[in-house]
Amino acid sequence: MRIRFGANKPIARSQQGSGTYAGRQLLARRSVNGYSKQQTPPTSTMQEFYTQYSFVVESFIAGLLASVACGFGVFPLLSKRIDLTKHIGLGYGVAGGLMFAASVYNLLLPAFTLGAQEGMKIVPVLKTLIGMLFGCAFLAGANSFLTPERLSSPVFKAFGSRLEILVFIAMCFHSIPEGVAVGVGYASEIHNENLHGLGLYIALAIAIHNMPEGLAVALPMRAGGATITKCFIAAFLTSLPQPIAAVPASLLVWLFEPLMLPFFGFAAGAMMFLVIEDLVPEGLETHSRAEIAWSFMAGFSVMVLVQLLL
Ligand SMILES: [Zn+2]
Repeated sequence: MRIRFGANKPIARSQQGSGTYAGRQLLARRSVNGYSKQQTPPTSTMQEFYTQYSFVVESFIAGLLASVACGFGVFPLLSKRIDLTKHIGLGYGVAGGLMFAASVYNLLLPAFTLGAQEGMKIVPVLKTLIGMLFGCAFLAGANSFLTPERLSSPVFKAFGSRLEILVFIAMCFHSIPEGVAVGVGYASEIHNENLHGLGLYIALAIAIHNMPEGLAVALPMRAGGATITKCFIAAFLTSLPQPIAAVPASLLVWLFEPLMLPFFGFAAGAMMFLVIEDLVPEGLETHSRAEIAWSFMAGFSVMVLVQLLL
């Protein structure tokens, strides 16, 4: 996913009054249609509002569809031949590989590509790496918070095992910067005509990589005995921050765009830390080192191939 954003400072469409070129065009169009300002039919206010903010609605819908794509990631588990309960460790290995590849290719690489546009090489890299360290610290904190006592409380019990909760948290957080990318992409189109289609392009790229990510969420759950419906809902929910984050990001590009690099770093850090601290060691408890290494590499390759082929 290569992301190029436009202007740093947004020009709010609401500020485009009749004095501006766009405002004059709007008034001209009204008079062509036979409406003066006083004669404007009641629905036009709504239409005008929609025209001004359609990019916000579009970014929300695109983010929502990307979340549904994440749910579709559970489909390979519908096969009756895959009995994960016997191979729970391999499930962790594959999920680890999927998440690691997503961290590298969908979070760190886009962050470094975006950073390269800033010109100063070391500053954007540092921003990303500092975000990454915070992501690691966040996940380590969440891990120590989930003590056996807390996990036995009814609130956490409903969510599942410690590992399932951690995967859910890490994937939820990693969806926020992706939603921000969708929102900023749609808003950038408004400010720069050359970027037409950017929002949809980013949303599509995210929707495609969401599918194997949904699989990563579902694998440990399914291995733990969860139903396909529960896996689908959990995968969908981990991506729900995407449409939610897309809305404020599309409206406040000037605020969110500078935060993209640390956000991407944070999400990558949380996911990579989870893979190394939990998924791989858990897998090693039931399988040999070689088996876990192979399952990890299989997950990594699937993530890369899905994005390349789709
Ligand atoms: Zn992702």
